[in-house]
Amino acid sequence: MRITSHGAARGVTGSKHLIEINGKRILFDCGMFQGHRKEAAERNQTLPFSVNDIDAVVLSHAHIDHSGILPMLARKGYEGKVFTTPASRDLCAVMLLDSANIQERDASWLSKRRQTFVPPIYTDIHVREIMRRFISIPYDVSFDILPGIRLTFKDAGHVLGSAICLLEFEENGKQRRFIYSGDIGRKNAAILRDPWEPEEADVVIMESTYGNRDHDSIETLDAKLEDIIKRTHARGGKIIVPTFALERAQEFIVALKRLEMANRIPSLPVYVDSPLTVNITEVFRLHTDLFDEDMRKLMEDAADPFELQHIQYIRGVEQSKKLNTIDHPVIILSAAGMCEHGRILHHLRNNCEDERNTILIIGFQARHTLGRRIVEREPRIRIFGVEHDLRAEVRKLNALSAHAGRSELIEFGARLKNAAERILLVHGEDEALTALQEGLAEQGCTQTLIQEEGKTVEF
Ligand SMILES: [Zn+2]
Repeated sequence: MRITSHGAARGVTGSKHLIEINGKRILFDCGMFQGHRKEAAERNQTLPFSVNDIDAVVLSHAHIDHSGILPMLARKGYEGKVFTTPASRDLCAVMLLDSANIQERDASWLSKRRQTFVPPIYTDIHVREIMRRFISIPYDVSFDILPGIRLTFKDAGHVLGSAICLLEFEENGKQRRFIYSGDIGRKNAAILRDPWEPEEADVVIMESTYGNRDHDSIETLDAKLEDIIKRTHARGGKIIVPTFALERAQEFIVALKRLEMANRIPSLPVYVDSPLTVNITEVFRLHTDLFDEDMRKLMEDAADPFELQHIQYIRGVEQSKKLNTIDHPVIILSAAGMCEHGRILHHLRNNCEDERNTILIIGFQARHTLGRRIVEREPRIRIFGVEHDLRAEVRKLNALSAHAGRSELIEFGARLKNAAERILLVHGEDEALTALQEGLAEQGCTQTLIQEEGKTVEF
C-alpha cells in the first residue's frame, strides 16, 4: 500500500490522505485549509490530484477541515461514492450548505476588492451533487466499499457521527489492517460514547492535535461553569459565549441542563443565536442512539436534553437584533467560535465594555483572531472597524475540548505498538507532533513517522 497526505501534514487543516491498495485509490477525508485568509483561499482553489484517479472517498467526520472540499470533487466531475456514518451525512447536509454560503460571500467580497469576477470555489449546487453520492454505514457494520476492500467505522467519540476508520484487505497474499484515526475524542465527554480502543493494525494514520498537552478534566466543568454563572448573575451581567456550532455548543447546553436540573444555577434566559448551531442541534435530536449512558440517564429525567427552562433557538435576523436591547442577566451563545465573523460580533460589540458582563471562551482560539485577543485580555479590541475597551470579565473553560489530550493520544498509539509496522503522525503543529513522537517512544512505540505533505510512503 502507498499513502500520500495532501493536507494536515505538519498542520491541522485540509485533511486529505490518499491510500493506494492493489491499484485502487481511496481518499480519506477531503478537508478545507483554514487560517490565513489569502493563503488558505489559494490552497483551497486547486485539488492536488485528479478526481478521475479516485475510486472511493471515506469521510471520518463532518468538521469542515475534514469535509469542506467534498463539493469541489463534485465540481470536478467525481462520480464515485462518499462513505460515512449516518450522522456525519446529516451534519454534512447542513454544514456544507453553510460553507457554500461562506464561499459565495467571500468570492463576492474578493470580486469587489479586485474589481474582477472571482468565482466561489463551490456553490450549493455542488453541495447537492456531492450529497447524492453519500452512502451511510453505521458503526460496527462492515461493508465492501471496493472489491476485496472492507470498511468498518468505529466510534471516535470526537463529534456526533465521528469515526475511526478500519480497512481490511488482502495484499500480496497477506491479510492487512489499516486504521485512519480521523480526530480522536475524549473519554467521559457528556454526550458521546468513549472512543474505540484498537488493538491491532499493520499501518495507522493517527492525529496529533494535542500531542503536547492535556486539557482540564471534564469533571471540573460543572463547578467552574456554576461559579461563572453565579458571579455574573450576582452583578447583573450577561454571559456571552462565542461557540463552535458542532459538538461544543451542544455539550455546553447539556452542561447547563445538568446544572439547572440540580438547581445549582439561577434560572436565566438562554439564547442560541446561530442558525447553523440551531440546525446542528436538530441533527443531534435525530441521532440519540449515538449518545452514551450518562446522556440516556439524563434523558430519562428530561425527555429533551437540549431544552432548558428558558431557552430560545434563534434563526431569524429580527429576533437576533432584539437581543441587542436586553438589559438583564442572560446567556447568549453565538458563532463563530473564534469571533472572526457571524452574529457573535454584534454581541461582543454590545457587551464588551460593561464590566458586569462575562465573555466565556470555550474553545481554542487561533493566532491573529479576535477570540485570541480577547483571551489575552488586550485592553482594546477592534470590532467592525471600531475600537472598544474590553472591560467585561474574560473566563476560559478548557474542559469542553472535543479532542483527546496528550495522555489519551499516547494511550491510543501505545496500544498498537506490538502490531503496527508504521504509525504515521498527522494533524498537528510541529511542537505537538514531536512531543507525541517522543511520548510514544517512551512507551516503547518507536515505529512512528511524522508525515510530510505530498510525500508518498510505501509499505
Ligand atoms: Zn474534528
